[in-house]
Amino acid sequence: MEYDIIIGMEIHAELKTKSKMFCRCDNNARGADPNTKTCPICLGHPGTLPYPNQQAIEWTVLLGLGLHCHINEFSKFDRKNYFYPDLPKGYQISQFEIPFCSGGWLDIDGEKIAITRIHLEEDTGKSTHPAGKNYSLIDLNRAGTPLIELVTEPVIRTAEMAKKFCQRYQQILRYLDISNADMEQGEMRCEANISLQEKGKWLYEDGLIKPVGDYKLNPKVELKNINSFRAVEKAVLYEVERQKKALASGEELRQETRGWNEESGKTVHQRFKETSADYRYFPEPDIPPLKFSGQMILEIKAKLIELPSEKKIRFIDEYGFDAITAEILVSDKALADYAEHVVSELESWIVSCGDTWERQKNKLAKLASNYLISELFKHLKANNQTIRDIKISAENFAELMTLVYQDKINSSAAQTILGVMYAKGSDPTDVMYELGLEQMDDTAVLEAVVNSVLAANPDQVAQYKAGKTNVAQFLVGRVMAETKGKANPKKVQEIIGKILKS
Ligand SMILES: [Zn+2]
Repeated sequence: MEYDIIIGMEIHAELKTKSKMFCRCDNNARGADPNTKTCPICLGHPGTLPYPNQQAIEWTVLLGLGLHCHINEFSKFDRKNYFYPDLPKGYQISQFEIPFCSGGWLDIDGEKIAITRIHLEEDTGKSTHPAGKNYSLIDLNRAGTPLIELVTEPVIRTAEMAKKFCQRYQQILRYLDISNADMEQGEMRCEANISLQEKGKWLYEDGLIKPVGDYKLNPKVELKNINSFRAVEKAVLYEVERQKKALASGEELRQETRGWNEESGKTVHQRFKETSADYRYFPEPDIPPLKFSGQMILEIKAKLIELPSEKKIRFIDEYGFDAITAEILVSDKALADYAEHVVSELESWIVSCGDTWERQKNKLAKLASNYLISELFKHLKANNQTIRDIKISAENFAELMTLVYQDKINSSAAQTILGVMYAKGSDPTDVMYELGLEQMDDTAVLEAVVNSVLAANPDQVAQYKAGKTNVAQFLVGRVMAETKGKANPKKVQEIIGKILKS
């Protein structure tokens, strides 16, 4: 049997507002003792009233605008009723019928992944179950943290795309500076709904997967406890295989929630799925409906910045970066900004040399991205730092590139200089002179060294003349050694060829 894989994502992200969603408690509880960031409101004491956080609402709208959603000018909060120890009020304030944002899409390399909705709600507390103890612990510091939930249409077809979606979404949350979205910290939590349907027996219409003819749709399974991007891909792949096997053996699948177990690399049954009716949603009576004016939406829209997908396209068009390089550079806004600053310095420089950016951009952008991605990343990784920590100004980085570009230094000297710049933030030209790394480029000087090397290696010269031209590499190596690595290797090769062929 041939199946289509049908995946929809639900992603929760905690907003990094100063205060919680409906009270004034500090929303940053990292490192705080349990239950110290709480008040009667987020503990759900009788008689308290929620007061919505304006910043959280504006950020939700901002995110919706960034993802091309329709912003519902009339919106409201609803109560989602269920009992769980980490939910002090016995209900969660969420949005059911009218979320702040509807529709929209997220672009991944030209493929638009349709979004159903983005709504705002409050997070729950956290329970821990100490091993070997007959009690559980509860920490309500997280209760009431603003939480945005994004739901996609069931339009994702591969585990890889599910992972890419989560990665791009995290980048967007960070670009907009509204969430740290750290998956390991639980600040971003990805859930995948997966079902397998026989090819040709289903269609996607009005946001729903529908059967064709008398085909009975296979139920979807919701995957939880996914703590990394790698786990998104692994969990989906595992679940697809599990469902395939179950279907092949005639086992009837049920709609259920399964948890990903990182150690065993398997998904395990948690519970059979509740439906929205189980939650007895009703409008939150303590918060009046919200109305946005067109003007308010425009004011929020004015704060929208260029997001990674658009930036990637622009980096390719404007700077001539290849797609892989552009993807790496835009993955982090600080890195993208740094790269752009370096490139604009190079652009001014090449113009000051009487050339044009258009003519030299491929060469210069490639050079800069090579040094940024391979060389600079090596230092960042070795020092466990990010681009935010570096001492090298974009101006100095660009200057190093111009030294390489003009053949004033060779690549091994450039790496040495970059190491010094990384440690001290120095100016590359100063380092070049201090360490005597300027490339030997003078033809007469190089010819003299080449002649002495040739005289000292008559066997290799004879081999070359007998047709074994690859011994030239050995001779270049000797010249590089003689000049302590400072000779221009390209030029040395040319000179050796010229002398031996004459
Ligand atoms: Zn509170």
